[in-house]
Amino acid sequence: MAQTSFELTARDGRARRGVIRTPRGEIRTPAFMPVGTAATVKGMMPESVAATGADILLGNTYHLMLRPGAERVARLGGLHKFMNWEKPILTDSGGFQVMSLAELRKLTEEGVSFRSHIDGSKHMLTPERSMEIQKLLGSDIVMAFDECPALPADRDRITQSMRLSMRWAARSREAFGDRPGHMLFGIQQGGLEEDLRGESAEALKAIGFDGYAVGGLAVGEGQEAMFSCLDYAPDMLPEDKPRYLMGVGKPDDIVGAVKRGIDMMDCVLPSRSGRTGQAWTRRGQVNIKNARHADDPRPLDENCTCPACRGYSRAYLHHVFRAGEMISGMLLTWHNLHYYQELMQGMRSAIEAGDFAGFEADFHAKRAEGDIEPL
Ligand SMILES: [Zn+2]
Repeated sequence: MAQTSFELTARDGRARRGVIRTPRGEIRTPAFMPVGTAATVKGMMPESVAATGADILLGNTYHLMLRPGAERVARLGGLHKFMNWEKPILTDSGGFQVMSLAELRKLTEEGVSFRSHIDGSKHMLTPERSMEIQKLLGSDIVMAFDECPALPADRDRITQSMRLSMRWAARSREAFGDRPGHMLFGIQQGGLEEDLRGESAEALKAIGFDGYAVGGLAVGEGQEAMFSCLDYAPDMLPEDKPRYLMGVGKPDDIVGAVKRGIDMMDCVLPSRSGRTGQAWTRRGQVNIKNARHADDPRPLDENCTCPACRGYSRAYLHHVFRAGEMISGMLLTWHNLHYYQELMQGMRSAIEAGDFAGFEADFHAKRAEGDIEPL
């Protein structure tokens, strides 16, 4: 018995509604995964993250291997127990972050050697070590180890990098082995080149994975280029497996990705924005730092049922941000995560009802209105 499965329950155009089943619970798709970089979604208690409607969290292999260390987490009972989150966890492979954060990194066929950005200690990440770390953490959905060039990059660089990632994907599959109850996802690369995306998809399908990510996007190419790629890239991947768009995104990126057949996404944006005084609402982005909120007794969004909107005014949120109080980031992060999950639920319902186009039209119309008028 596989103990994990993916079932598509409805479709509307290219948009898909489904469910991933794991021993730790079901993940309703399309799903948004909040990012718990260092075994915490910053500013949120795990039960609060669950209360926003999240079925799954993302953890970062690169951060956790450096601090507190994968072996230590394993000795302490695994990442779920360590961070008090019993639902599913997806971990990235470390490949993307080692290239963006680590120092003195050296890329070879074997893997990437680097120095920690925290204390300068020497480490090596390979497909085999990445699989080992993700197993030690106890991740439910494991990502294959890959390399992702920043865009723009020339075609030769993207081709070489993609082919290296495909060789690493095969090594990841081999090292992952047979682990009932756990899933391994492959990652499609190839930049914005359609033929390279196709070559990558064929290589991954030949290896065989439990799910497939569209990697190498949301790295500076812009929404128009990303959507152009999503017009063809997801359909190159198996129909009957989940498709995950890594590192996306803003609310309108998410709606556009789901429209193009994406089932899962993750992004630090709702939590990071929450800490910098930015709120995401149905009417777009609100900068709570702005002086216009200082005397405003109204909630951020009068229709939102999150604790920040039920219990606090814009004036209070403005004040605690200005005063540097911790509750500022806590409340805005909660609101943002709540909004993102409500957005996902709205899309899931719309796909079931066969009215994704109507949902999308309403989504854009509401945003076009902009924030409520100042008092
Ligand atoms: Zn709210």
